Amino acid sequence: MTLHDLDPADGDRARALDAHILHSWSKHGTTNPFTVARGEGVRLWDHDGREYLDFSSQLVNTNIGHSHPKVVEAIQRQAAELATVAPATTNLVRGEAAERILSKIDDMAAVFFTNGGADAVENAIRMARVHTGRTKVLTHYRSYHGNTGAAINATGDHRRLGNEFATGHVHCFGPFLYRSEFWAETEEQEAERALQHARRVIEAEGPSTFAAIMVEAVPGTAGILPPPPGYLQGLRELADRHGIVLILDEVMAGFGRTGHWFAHQHDGVRPDLVTFAKGVNSGYVPVGGVILSDEILGTFRERAIPGGLTYAGHPLAAASIVAAIDAMTDEGIVEHAAHLGEDILGPGLRELAERHEIIGEVRGRGCFWALDLVTDRATREPVDASVVAGLKGKLLERGYVPFTADNRIHVVPPLVISDDDARRGLEILDEVLGAHAA
Ligand code: PMP
Repeated sequence: MTLHDLDPADGDRARALDAHILHSWSKHGTTNPFTVARGEGVRLWDHDGREYLDFSSQLVNTNIGHSHPKVVEAIQRQAAELATVAPATTNLVRGEAAERILSKIDDMAAVFFTNGGADAVENAIRMARVHTGRTKVLTHYRSYHGNTGAAINATGDHRRLGNEFATGHVHCFGPFLYRSEFWAETEEQEAERALQHARRVIEAEGPSTFAAIMVEAVPGTAGILPPPPGYLQGLRELADRHGIVLILDEVMAGFGRTGHWFAHQHDGVRPDLVTFAKGVNSGYVPVGGVILSDEILGTFRERAIPGGLTYAGHPLAAASIVAAIDAMTDEGIVEHAAHLGEDILGPGLRELAERHEIIGEVRGRGCFWALDLVTDRATREPVDASVVAGLKGKLLERGYVPFTADNRIHVVPPLVISDDDARRGLEILDEVLGAHAA
């Protein structure tokens, strides 16, 4: 099939057939006119053959870009060989997938596979509870951990409200200097303030009641908030002091997004459990999981883990993990993401902030950036959602697929984007922000 085979009538059919689907987080009947028919690398095409640059990586998951030939080939080969096998069966490609994952992280002992990110979080919490015999989990208000029972309750944003079915969830404010609750003036003060706050919450709730502290290594959906130096280390010490398990959620930030294989490797902190999904195979087949330290694994040498899923370690997912990690390693894709952050996206976005008053702050690293949009730089008042919706439409019209959340544009292209395409994306952002101001 080539692009010549694209048929505009298929776009109309896709929009008509949308009536059969109740979409995630959507009111039924709100059909998105934008259709995606094909993808290759950072490029997408709709059914009319219009080309777009994907600056969203979909849901920040296609780290390796669309239709990577080595990953596609591995899935096809595996489908012909053995497409499904029961979860606890010993199977070579499953073992290879776990081995590849463990090769990118220090001092971790095993992988528990799930179908995606939320159930990875669900199982990490369960492991911490079984390991400690305690219930409570401390997470950030500014976080997103997934939309299943414990994961949505661990999530701090408004989406947890109305889903209050689980118990034992306690939240605190993690560091965010630009919108600091107490207007700390430096990253060091903000880290210290946030650690004092977490300490006080744990003391007030009873330290011996906490199974886990769980934070995103870089909070993503909540605004791409790289932790200030010392914060994750401080949480590690707090967890150690009270025998609490430290879970780092790397579902969005992991597998190269920040320019390291795992985002916490910037901070030199040692987690007990790490959740992953998205970038591990760039979403070509749904998969996620939990990486366990030897100490936590010890608990499950003594007793069986009370949980499992039909598709855990699915062969197609496993084959795609092996191929994606090998391709990322061989092609230097994580190093390229670091280069993009340091040399193109970081400086380029900061330059945009010099020209466009609407940009209050630029934050991020690697291919993981946020533009925090404000009505007034002095008050830092966030722009209205309608402003972001307007910018989103204008970006799409110019062939740039954006990721937006609240008052922000997240600049999160696949890590394989070329320097020239990254610059082209910055130009489109510049044009659209310029037209908005005019
Ligand atoms: N944790 C984090 C940090 C995430 O960003 C997400 C998804 N955006 C999840 C968990 C949930 O993953 P999934 O949607 O695959 O269930």
